[in-house]
Amino acid sequence: MDYHLQTQAVHAGRDDLRDLGVHAPPLDFSTTHPVRSLASGRDSIDQLAEGAASADSAIYSRLHNQTVHRYEVAFARMEGADDGIAFASGMAAITAVFQALRVREMEEGVHRNHIVAVRPIYGCTDHLLSCGLLGYDVDWVEPDQIAATITEQTALVVIETPANPTLHLVDIADVVRQAGNIPVMVDNTFATPVLQLPLALGATFSVHSGTKYLGGHGDVLSGLVATDKTWAARIRQVRILTGANLHPMAAYLLHRSLPTLPLRVLKAQENAVILAGKIAAHPAVSAVYFPGFGDSDPTDIVGRQMKGPGSVIAFEMKGGFDSAGRTMLATELFLPAVSLGTTDSLIEHPAGLTHRIVSEEGRDSGGITEGLLRVAVGIEHVDDLWKDLEHALDQGLAANALFRL
Ligand SMILES: *Cc1c(COP(=O)(O)O)cnc(C)c1O
Repeated sequence: MDYHLQTQAVHAGRDDLRDLGVHAPPLDFSTTHPVRSLASGRDSIDQLAEGAASADSAIYSRLHNQTVHRYEVAFARMEGADDGIAFASGMAAITAVFQALRVREMEEGVHRNHIVAVRPIYGCTDHLLSCGLLGYDVDWVEPDQIAATITEQTALVVIETPANPTLHLVDIADVVRQAGNIPVMVDNTFATPVLQLPLALGATFSVHSGTKYLGGHGDVLSGLVATDKTWAARIRQVRILTGANLHPMAAYLLHRSLPTLPLRVLKAQENAVILAGKIAAHPAVSAVYFPGFGDSDPTDIVGRQMKGPGSVIAFEMKGGFDSAGRTMLATELFLPAVSLGTTDSLIEHPAGLTHRIVSEEGRDSGGITEGLLRVAVGIEHVDDLWKDLEHALDQGLAANALFRL
């Protein structure tokens, strides 16, 4: 089936529904499942424990759940991947990739303890890699230093593009070329498969916080990994052992959100393009970071790697912390809250909130200043959004004037 993305979004993962005589995917809440025979049960356990996507019996819902698996199939098609694996959160999905590297070490009997990563990156991913919990040695480098930093010990290269929170762009194909035969993990949360397909550019893993655009309505915590069959089996083995499974109700909601993903992403992006220009022209603002805008995209990644800029905008307030704080709390429509990718618009202060967990050195090198604000633009009418934001920026400017007295 070689349908367009919009058609996949509506139909993928629903192949069995017609035969079942239903229109909406059945919601299977069973935690345990009957076996047909002892032989079938035994074989099913063996297959699932080795990482098979499904078996004759689902056995137990930490091993397999059909509602979750339907969404995994749909998600994988969207990403152009062989397979997709769903988790209880984005961080659980990212952690499972790091742990799957250990599964490969055990299979091959080769110890590899080094990860190369590029900042800025999602605050918790940064902290997970930096804090030592997983036991990897991590080198943080600029994208052009990746090849020079790789050693025989390197197990993975980690990038995020557009990166949270500064919308910094990384050239995926170039990173893949530098990485050679080392797998590359791309956090594709900000772009979504509507705008960017990392696996087509040679990445091994495309990971998502499904909590953001894929869920789209701010009511489902979830994570996804798209990858090839071999890595998918390792990641399923990790999920069976560590149990960070996605709940079937969450999978149902994600699947329900999928048909509108392209509509939501493109509408929010259309709004964001208009707002980025208006924000840049406001006297309270000294710089705007938005893919493809101004000098935010020196190597023409938008149009080449990404179909469009997406709908998250970061900007620097001239008055620093005080005027950023004043602006964040002066809005009526933009909710002062972390997260992104919801139908409604959100505004937040990365240094104080999402990236507070990142070390000061990490924040400095990632450009996460005290005056930086991040807005995640929703699908409301853009005139209303600008009216709201302009009023809030005016308040920020007033704070700035006070500050200077
Ligand atoms: C939110 C987010 C995550 C973490 O996902 P959770 O679902 O909150 O665990 C990872 N990466 C990016 C880019 C995110 O925005």
